[in-house]
Amino acid sequence: MSNGSKQNLFKMAEQQLERAFDAIGADANLRAILSQPKNEVIVHFPVQLTSGEVKMFKGYRIQHNNALGPFKGGMRYHHDVHLDEVKALATWMTWKCALAGIPYGGGKGGIKFSPREYSAEDLERITRRFTHALGDNIGPEWDIPAPDMGTNSQIMDWMMDTYANLKSTNNRQTMRAVVTGKSLICGGSQGRTAATGQGVVHCIEAWAERKGFDLDGARLAIQGYGNVGSNVARIMARKGALVVAVGDHTGYFMNQDGLNPAELSQWVQVHRGLNGYPKAEAISREQFFGVECDIMVPAALELQILEEEAKSLKCQMVIEAANGPVDLDGERVIQERGIDLIPDVLANSGGVIVSYYEWLQNKRSESWYKERVEEKLERRMRRIYDQTVMKAEELGVGMRTGAYAIALEKLKNVYGARGLWP
Ligand code: NAD
Repeated sequence: MSNGSKQNLFKMAEQQLERAFDAIGADANLRAILSQPKNEVIVHFPVQLTSGEVKMFKGYRIQHNNALGPFKGGMRYHHDVHLDEVKALATWMTWKCALAGIPYGGGKGGIKFSPREYSAEDLERITRRFTHALGDNIGPEWDIPAPDMGTNSQIMDWMMDTYANLKSTNNRQTMRAVVTGKSLICGGSQGRTAATGQGVVHCIEAWAERKGFDLDGARLAIQGYGNVGSNVARIMARKGALVVAVGDHTGYFMNQDGLNPAELSQWVQVHRGLNGYPKAEAISREQFFGVECDIMVPAALELQILEEEAKSLKCQMVIEAANGPVDLDGERVIQERGIDLIPDVLANSGGVIVSYYEWLQNKRSESWYKERVEEKLERRMRRIYDQTVMKAEELGVGMRTGAYAIALEKLKNVYGARGLWP
């Protein structure tokens, strides 16, 4: 169900960065510092599965930059996880946190395996062994993981519990801040589960206001019906939008009268994917990207809208809810065709923003009301959306380069002030 692309994601991240360096006229030193991650941690660890079999797993934690604060970024469980993918994702986290104005750098990690093939008990064993293998390569003031594709609050709870139990008894309570995206009872924040999807919706609203576009009755196509995709569908439906097409790793479906987001979520939970959903017409992946709609929301994985898919789009706007779903050729075609593009580092930053609020709550032993989290998220998303639009206009570039330019200027300033020592 993927486009079969073998493109190198880190090369794409490098090329996007070069464009932004040129736009802000960055000097060679800044380019040199930011072109590679600071640390690349790879661990191989054995796990005794419930079957009795011992299996080796390969895990990653890439720490791109921490000039503005601790490394921060998700942990991905997926069979395609590999070094250049996690390097690209860690790099994007640096720009995302700098753009959002939160005191973090960029990191990303994961394990190369397919979590759907394992029981909950085995997932717990794998997660705990991975956390143990990472040891002090993570930490509340050093590198703070969060959920990403294939992981959720339960995985974060196990990760936090393992890390805390490896510390001295009298220090354990302060260790909850080692990961974010935990369940509420384990120190998670109100609003964290839906935060990424909610942030995507704030961007859609900001875009619609500027365009004078009415979201009531707007038609959406959403690729990926996991945490991010399903929350975008649910929140947009509440605003009167219609989800006319959806797709995931098991298949693609269309219904021009609109699909019911809650029913879709229930179906996915029971059937572990959209496959077989009865109240829609099954379509191909090619048909999905050519569906008549207003807003296309790639919310699954990277490298999904390449030149071919971009040529067949029939929408007014693409919003990158996933990380890296549009490659450079896809972006060029989208721009040539006059379709708006809201880039990932802006669109999906709601997750890391509320992760920051969770981290603050943990450090202060506080627990904020949902309304407070939601208000703060909306204000910040709106602010960075407007800043990105203004920067893009000022430089005469697309929104991605505008967003990168804001982030790079902050990094340039912090290196200018701190210098390199020793
Ligand atoms: P998830 O695991 O909850 O859901 C992933 C979805 O993608 C599932 O519906 C899955 O079926 C689908 N998918 C997987 N492989 C596919 C394929 N080959 N073709 C079509 N669909 C496929 O993950 P998520 O947390 O919703 O993350 C989705 C994207 O959003 C990722 O790019 C992730 O990095 C990004 N993101 C997530 C968060 C977060 O808070 N969870 C934050 C920022 C960015």
